[in-house]
Amino acid sequence: MTDRWAKLKEEMIQAAPSLGIDKIGVASADPFVSLKQVLLRHRELGRESGFEEPDIEKRTNPALLFENPQSIIAIAIAYPSKLTNPPKSEPGARRGILSRSAWGEDYHRVLRDRLARLEAWLRERVPELRAESMVDTGALSDRAVAERAGIGWSAKNCAVISPELGSWIYLGEMITNIPFAPDEPVTEGCGSCTKCIDACPTDALVGPGQLNSSRCISFVTQTKGMVSDELMRKIGNRLYGCDTCQTVCPVNRGKNWTHQPELQPDPEVVKPLLVPLLTIGNKEFQARYGHTSSAWRGKKPIQRNAVIALGNFKEASAVPDLIRVLEQDSRPVLRGTAAWALARIGGEQAKAALLSASGKERDEEVRTSISNALEQIAELPKK
Ligand code: SF4
Ligand code: SF4
Repeated sequence: MTDRWAKLKEEMIQAAPSLGIDKIGVASADPFVSLKQVLLRHRELGRESGFEEPDIEKRTNPALLFENPQSIIAIAIAYPSKLTNPPKSEPGARRGILSRSAWGEDYHRVLRDRLARLEAWLRERVPELRAESMVDTGALSDRAVAERAGIGWSAKNCAVISPELGSWIYLGEMITNIPFAPDEPVTEGCGSCTKCIDACPTDALVGPGQLNSSRCISFVTQTKGMVSDELMRKIGNRLYGCDTCQTVCPVNRGKNWTHQPELQPDPEVVKPLLVPLLTIGNKEFQARYGHTSSAWRGKKPIQRNAVIALGNFKEASAVPDLIRVLEQDSRPVLRGTAAWALARIGGEQAKAALLSASGKERDEEVRTSISNALEQIAELPKK
């Protein structure tokens, strides 16, 4: 019997590329004891993002998710890190950027497709197969499973780094009733490098592999409310996510994966002009972004981030567009953020619009933003 599973595992590893899988490994289905301690501490310190499965037991004990689990198969799919002929962001035509993890087809769909192919492949050979696939939204920690299955090491930037593929990988897993022998974790690690921790713009990496989500730009760009002045300045032109702690990583140097057809980016979508985003309709947003993972929170966070980016660029040509948002957008967060951006750009036209809006605005939070903006604009040198 042992031979049967050893042989099947070998065949599965050989078949992985033809199933569209770039790396595959097997983890035991034992509880993730040390992860549980880390997650409890993380919660205690208030460092959760709020997007995670609330039940820590479920996140760390496969047996609570699947009856009598025997193994967890981990898969990785590699995605591109470079744009071919990226359009220029320049004065009068400023552009924002989406995180590489959102460049192609929504990775949930791609991973589900690969896991479905793998499951079908296994079922042909193991009719008694029971399997449950999980992708990101599943209760288990993709990273902990990937690490245990030898896909890569758990890095100081909180990503899993595969020695061959770097951290430009999507992770998924499948709990099964097949008693595959587990793989060994990889032996490589970050060593004495601290580049990602040093480069993080908000000091969100509070220690090796420890993230304070509330300060991480990747999470902040996905929230829907007003953002603090400090974090808005640090968001730069990021519309969704943040890649800084991965782009600086020496292991990722030169790694750019262009072989997965659904994951190749359209530069106009992933590095879009900012001003047209301010008025993009629901239909157009769905057509342009609906297939990417950046659309999961709707268009509001991306539009708010476009307003922030124009402010950070100090893009004077966008003042009339931002005034339109301040005066006419029905969403208070957009109006409040536009007030901030106008103050950041400055100038008489922006100031006049803020003064006029302060007399008309009824929303308390937006009124506060406008009065902060007026204070800030008064301190700027006259344009
Ligand atoms: S994603 Fe950006 S903000 Fe978050 S930890 Fe990495 S560098 Fe810092
Ligand atoms: S930048 Fe250095 S410390 Fe950070 S993840 Fe990469 S190798 Fe590890």
